[in-house]
Amino acid sequence: MFTLRDYASPNNLDEAYELLMKSKLNRILGGCHFLKAGSRAYNVGIDLNKLDLDYIKVSENDIRVGATTTYAELEHNEFFKTFCNGIVPKSIKKIVSTQLRNTAQIGASVFSKYAFSDFLPILVLLNAKVSLYKNGIMTVEEFLYSDIERDILIEIIIPNVDVDCIQIANRICCKDFPNAIVSVSNTDGKYRVVFGARPQKAMVMNDISDEITKNGFDRKKILSMLDEEIGSNHKAQKEYRKLLFVGLLQKALGELK
Ligand SMILES: Cc1cc2nc3c(=O)[nH]c(=O)nc-3n(C[C@H](O)[C@H](O)[C@H](O)COP(=O)(O)OP(=O)(O)OC[C@H]3O[C@@H](n4cnc5c(N)ncnc54)[C@H](O)[C@@H]3O)c2cc1C
Repeated sequence: MFTLRDYASPNNLDEAYELLMKSKLNRILGGCHFLKAGSRAYNVGIDLNKLDLDYIKVSENDIRVGATTTYAELEHNEFFKTFCNGIVPKSIKKIVSTQLRNTAQIGASVFSKYAFSDFLPILVLLNAKVSLYKNGIMTVEEFLYSDIERDILIEIIIPNVDVDCIQIANRICCKDFPNAIVSVSNTDGKYRVVFGARPQKAMVMNDISDEITKNGFDRKKILSMLDEEIGSNHKAQKEYRKLLFVGLLQKALGELK
């Protein structure tokens, strides 16, 4: 369990950011699930609950999800149930438990850049953006591969484009961290493939997307293209994971048609 020397609930983002920058040991508090998994002693815990960042706003151009919105709010939101084949609620409901999803926050989950994230591959697939207090707006993919470590995530912005897409994650057992995630979209025959839990961060697989778009799915060919991007960790060795990704991709493409 982590400890805090003090707690603050700023009235606006300027105050929150100023406080965050005052000490390397000051931390924004989300739902605290990941913070609780560690045992560090922090200085000030900064609660964003007075900043009105708990929202899902749908407009013609985009969908904006505020940082303190929980996974459960996304899961039960009427718009997301049908948007993009319901990819958001279908994927995040596999994360741990109702209790965790009731309080785990979007800002924390995206800002932490977890390689095992079930949510980040969807955001990359849908060309979503993050809005950060200091660093401004950028695509989730740019953010994932940036060296930004200290900032406040204000909201995520998802283009309101209803594409045909699917995500499949593999877990050794239910509620475990995933050891392979494949997300695929098909826009008028043009495929976009994103792999997550490689075990590195989510990434658009440009060559594989082009290959499938031009020549269709060929198991041997795709397997031969995978070597660089797939690695090993305690959840799965590289060779096994490569087979997993090809199998999941084949399944995802089959279900999309
Ligand atoms: C046991 C366990 C299993 C999990 N399994 C999965 C899984 O299978 N799939 C999956 O996708 N996820 C999984 N997660 C991650 C989970 O879904 C949440 O993403 C994670 O707990 C972070 O959310 P939180 O609100 O608890 O963040 P916290 O623990 O409160 O914060 C995490 C970090 O984010 C920072 N932070 C919080 N809010 C902001 C903000 N607005 N801007 C900038 N920084 C911020 C905090 O300072 C902290 O450093 C798991 C988590 C746990 C504890």
